[in-house]
Formats: sequence, C-alpha cells, structure tokens
Amino acid sequence: MRETLHFVNGEFLRSASGRTFENRNPVDNSLIARVHEAGRPEVDAAVRAARAALDGPWGRMSVDERAGLLHAVAAEINRRFDDFLQAEVADTGKPVSLASHLDIPRGAANFKIFADTVKNVPTEFFQMATPDGTGALNYAVRVPKGVVAVICPWNLPLLLMTWKVGPALACGNTVVVKPSEETPSTAALLGEVMNAVGVPPGVYNIVHGFGPDSAGEFLTTHPGVNAITFTGETNTGAAILKAASDGIKATSMELGGKNPAIVFADCDLEQAVETTTRSVFANCGQVCLGTERVYVERPIFDEFVKRLGEAARTMKPGRPQDAATKIGPLISLEHRRKVLSYYEKAKAEGATIVAGGGIPTMEGELAEGAWIEPTVWTGLPETSAVVREEIFGPCCHVAPFDTEEEVIRLANDTPYGLAAAIHTTHLARAHRLGAKLEVGICWINSWFLRDLRTPFGGSKRSGIGREGGVHSLEFYTELRNVCVKL
Ligand code: NAD
Repeated sequence: MRETLHFVNGEFLRSASGRTFENRNPVDNSLIARVHEAGRPEVDAAVRAARAALDGPWGRMSVDERAGLLHAVAAEINRRFDDFLQAEVADTGKPVSLASHLDIPRGAANFKIFADTVKNVPTEFFQMATPDGTGALNYAVRVPKGVVAVICPWNLPLLLMTWKVGPALACGNTVVVKPSEETPSTAALLGEVMNAVGVPPGVYNIVHGFGPDSAGEFLTTHPGVNAITFTGETNTGAAILKAASDGIKATSMELGGKNPAIVFADCDLEQAVETTTRSVFANCGQVCLGTERVYVERPIFDEFVKRLGEAARTMKPGRPQDAATKIGPLISLEHRRKVLSYYEKAKAEGATIVAGGGIPTMEGELAEGAWIEPTVWTGLPETSAVVREEIFGPCCHVAPFDTEEEVIRLANDTPYGLAAAIHTTHLARAHRLGAKLEVGICWINSWFLRDLRTPFGGSKRSGIGREGGVHSLEFYTELRNVCVKL
C-alpha cells in the first residue's frame, strides 16, 4: 500500500507514532494511500526546519535568485504535469477536463506570477525637513513575516495551496503546509519538485493530519509560527483566529460563502443560463465562489428555471478520465451525508424540485462513490436553512424578484460576503449593483474570471484580508521604517 509522508527539511518522513489515516478516491471509495498523521514532534520539527532555512541560505538569497527558483518550480510542475493531474484527480474525483484546464496550470502559474510581482514592488520614501535644516530620509523596508503556516481545504488542493505558498516564498518567508486530510497527494509531489529544482531544505515543509487535536491545531498554536494563512470553512476560521490571538499572529482568512446570482429580464438569457450552470455545478458545486442562491426578475423567472433545470439534467456524472463526464462526485461520503441533509430539508420544507434531489444510479464499483445529483429548487422561504447556509454541493435555490432595491436587499441579507454574479445588459445598473453588493468580488455577465493581480477576499463572515498581486505581498511581508538623519 502506498504511503503519503510528511516533508520536513527536504526529506520525506514517517510519523514517530506510526499513526496513519486513509486517503480514499471519492469516485469508488477505493483506498489510494495511507497518510502519516503528524503529532506535535513532527510539527515542531517542521517549524524548526522552516526557522533554520529562514536564518540560513534562503534568508540570504537575493530576490532575483529566489524568483529564479520559483520559475524553476513552475517549470518542473509543468514537466510533471501528468503526475500532478493523476494525483489531483484521484484525491478529488474531479473530471480530468477540469483539473487539466484549471487546477494544475494555475498551480504552476501561481509561482510564476508572484516571482514576477515581487521583483516590481515599490516602497515608500520621504525626504523630511528637520529643525536644524539638514533634513532626514525616511523609507520603508519590506521584510518577510517569517515562518508561515498554510492551512488548506480540499476543493482546489494544488491551486489554493500554491496561491499561498507562491507569494509566501516569493517574499522570502518559509512555510509549513497542512494540506486537507482529504487531499494530501499534490502537496507531497510539490516536495519532490522543490528538491529537484534546488529549493533549500526547510523552505517548504508539509505536515499531514486533521484540525483539532492534530496537525492543524498543533501548527496554528505553535509559538514558532509568525503568520497563518487559511482557506476553509468559516467556523474553522473562527477557531484558528482564537488560536492565533494567543501568539498575536498575523492571519489571512479566506472563508465560506452563500453567493447570489442576480438575473435581470434584460439579460442575454442564453449566456445567463450557461454562466449560472457553471457557477452552480462546476467542481460538483464545491467552489467557494460558486452560486447557491439565484434571484431572477419575474418576467423571465419561469423560462430561466426551465432552462437551468434542463442544463442540470445534462450534467452527466462519470469517470474523471471520460471526456463526456461533466461532473464528478463530492469529495467524500461524509460530505455527501451533509449535502444530502440539505436535500432532505428542502423536501421536508415543500420545495419544488426542478431537477435532481437525490443520488444518481451508478454502475459497478462507481456505486460505492460519493455521487450526487445536480439539483435545482424553487419555492423555499428566504428563512430556510437551505437558502441561508453554505451547502457546498451542486445545488441552488431560485427565487423571483420585482425591483432592483428588493434584490439588493435579498442578496445582502446573509452573514456571508464572498462573491456575486449579475446578469444584465443595463450598464448603469450593473455598476450600481457592483458597488452596493456586500461582497469581495462581483461579476457582471461572467463568473470565475479574474486578473490575478486584483484583490481577492471576502467581506463579513467570508473572510479577513485580501490576497492577489501586491495585496498578497502586503500580507506576506512586514514593513520596517528606517529614518536617516542627514
Ligand atoms: P475546513 O474548514 O473543514 O478545513 C480546512 C482545513 O482546515 C483543513 O486542512 C482542516 O484539516 C483544517 N482544520 C480544521 N480544523 C482546524 C483547526 N481547529 N485548526 C487548524 N486547522 C484546522 O474546510 P474544507 O471543508 O476543507 O473546505 C471547504 C470550505 O472552504 C468551504 O466553506 C469553502 O467555502 C471554503 N473555501 C473558501 C475559499 C475562499 O477563497 N474564500 C476557497 C475555497 C474554499
């Protein structure tokens, strides 16, 4: 049986305790590997290795040398594209067509983009007057934060991990990564890549395990960690914020969402249906930016619902390697139990089930997988848990609206504030809503489109801070002020 090991100081390690957990393929629930679970000793060794690298060759390297190594990391990921693709698809069950298009290329690109960004960051500089007339120079120096703990979710494992590791390393930090217990494989492959291109030992470390009373908690509470960057569920973020408060650690929180799509009667209907189909069902609905609430202006409500229902029924589940497969399984049987509990609630509350609503019939060994039907509901009150809580599955509730003011109120009436999509051909209205919706990113006639130099993050319970382009550099560096009397 394959084993997935920790990566500490450039070496793959087993846990001293011998404790392991299972990594299963959600397509058929088959066992992929036994993963070593880190205890405090492994986490401590990883943090110490990260500190030593910071004080050693990595800390002394010029920005150009570091950026050169990160370009080499990107090139090596691309050279081993198929290894990364197979590992990501086995861990997540997502279609090869999606992972080869999105997850792996973005995993490599995240190193290139931040290697280039860090070489072009200006700093502040002021010439000051002094009472004696000689003056002074005041300038800011950017230094790395130090050892950064990177805690990752399972929905876009390589993409979201490198979205943090890329800028952290570009800025001269060292990292200890805790991948999701569901998807440890591509993080481990990245360890091989780091060694192959000559990134010094201790710069990139991995500890595997769970959250509470396991690697996640041991890492976020470790006194040797200077900053924590987290992507995951809002309640987990709250627990990590509490843990971070003891050590006064810098935190970046990319959390959950319950994102609205707003469809006006003047939209390009075909484009609105196509885009909403993607924003609801892509990655089996396991995208933090995905749509779970759709508001449609009343004159086109029936037609939109009919077309979205038809689109949901064409989302054929199947083996990831099959080119015809449009949708994979959920990440695990456990997550399916959670998503199905919302399917049951919707039924119990009298929702109209436009499409889906249950488990599809799968043949052979696929019957053991975490499959679920793409689902569209109408007819639920806004107070329903199905409409208020993040489900993180391939499903949405569609409701009609009559006025712009009403739909702004409905869209904002949520504790979350991550993303929104608006479909309209009315230019001024699109701009008005773009500013009024309480979200980190608002798409007009599009979804999941973003220049990586722009700020990314959430409002309200969807997060704290912004990453992307220079905004990532703000988090992964600290500014020191130097004042020179002339
Ligand atoms: P999760 O919060 O359950 O787990 C995320 C990570 O945190 C895992 O590695 C887990 O082991 C670890 N963890 C759990 N408890 C911990 C603790 N007490 N201390 C330290 N670490 C702990 O999230 P998930 O189920 O893996 O991912 C899905 C969630 O992530 C959804 O809510 C989704 O919206 C969110 N998400 C947000 C973004 C974003 O950019 N805002 C992107 C992707 C996913």
